[in-house]
Amino acid sequence: MKKIIVVGGGQAGLQVCESVRREGFDGELSLICEEDSLPYQRPPLSKSFLLGDTDMERLSIRPPTFFRKYEIKYFLNTSVLSIDRKNKKVKLSNGNLMSYDNLVLTTGARIRQLGISNDNSKVFYIRDVQGSEALRSRLASIDNIAVIGGGFIGLEVAAVCRQLGKSVIVFEQSNSLMARGIPRPLASYYEEVHKEKGVHIALETTVEELKIDRNGIAISFNDNKLIVDAVVIGIGVIPNTELASDSGLRCQNGIVTDSEGRTNDNAIFAAGDCASFFSEYCKKHVRLESIQNAVDTGKVVAANMLGKEKQYDSVPWFWSDQYDLKLQIAGILEPYDDVVPTGSMQNNSFSSYYFYNGAHVGTASVNKPSDHMKSRKLLSVGSKLTAEVLRAPGFDLQSFAKEHS
Ligand code: NAP
Repeated sequence: MKKIIVVGGGQAGLQVCESVRREGFDGELSLICEEDSLPYQRPPLSKSFLLGDTDMERLSIRPPTFFRKYEIKYFLNTSVLSIDRKNKKVKLSNGNLMSYDNLVLTTGARIRQLGISNDNSKVFYIRDVQGSEALRSRLASIDNIAVIGGGFIGLEVAAVCRQLGKSVIVFEQSNSLMARGIPRPLASYYEEVHKEKGVHIALETTVEELKIDRNGIAISFNDNKLIVDAVVIGIGVIPNTELASDSGLRCQNGIVTDSEGRTNDNAIFAAGDCASFFSEYCKKHVRLESIQNAVDTGKVVAANMLGKEKQYDSVPWFWSDQYDLKLQIAGILEPYDDVVPTGSMQNNSFSSYYFYNGAHVGTASVNKPSDHMKSRKLLSVGSKLTAEVLRAPGFDLQSFAKEHS
């Protein structure tokens, strides 16, 4: 009987398991999870879970009955220590050896840490449910909070904390918010929104030192000092590639795969945050940290392990919820040389269409889900949208999308 082992119990690992079963795999399927819980959704950790609107039960992606029904053996609190590629075996932290025909690495990414001792009553990282739960349970006794890192985690947490009436300051070392994900003008819009909501934003400010004392946490920056009750650190993630690189698999900003998810060992695949996947859509290797990427690459890997020859050619997209704003991005926004705004920034309902060398490369929408959906459709078939067409009076995206996708 053929054996598939999936290493990593996040969104990508679960997707691989689900998809291989749905594609008809009837062999032995095992999911190795380092955490002590079945795969759960991470996006709510910096949003509704923190706010208290979602409980642990609702975070769970699939209940235990699902694993029984689809005969997915899972091992919690277990990690893979090493891979013996020659004999196709993995060594588990519980001492067992397991053999495989195909191995899938969905080892995810870990948070970057600031050199400060972990004091989970004052310093918080939001990557797993324990981190979010620790902050959630302390929020009632926190009046002021500093967020280090003005990326997605930092700003989503800042929004939640303001909604709960906390005093919030965000320190970001670059000169713009969410700089890795969105272009400058859109980042400036978000900066204004946060300021209007009462968040203090310190751009181009690197925190030099954090010191825990009896009164709280002393933050040193630019010859200044600030004492706060608590600090949330969201300064990015590092892909977990050590298991792969120690086994001689090629890694460069992630575990390198072809567009079918295969590593330089034909029996081993990778998917999700840890993988530097060749994207047929982007025509290059990309390592994307998003749910959509975990799901899409997981599906591609599952199909190819079963010999179905599926390539990764999806349009990247992701979203971020901050206050009552839903930001949705379709495509890759940078580089761009022209941008066409539609809708109303003042009313917090608009889209910006990005173009490069005359081609439509991406769309960012705020509270415009239908623009986002239509853009994804257009981009998936090589969008024919141009800036001229979009700027023409009376342009109707709905009719255009119907005709061209
Ligand atoms: P991120 O989006 O990469 O943002 C981290 C930010 O922190 C960067 O702008 C970084 O600047 C800055 N930074 C780094 N070191 C700093 C320092 N010492 N002081 C001040 N700023 C510093 O990462 P994240 O917000 O931590 O999110 C982690 C992961 O969760 C990412 O994979 C993210 O995509 C994912 N996530 C996604 C969503 C979503 O899609 N809605 C929501 C939450 C989390 P440099 O770029 O200059 O290093």
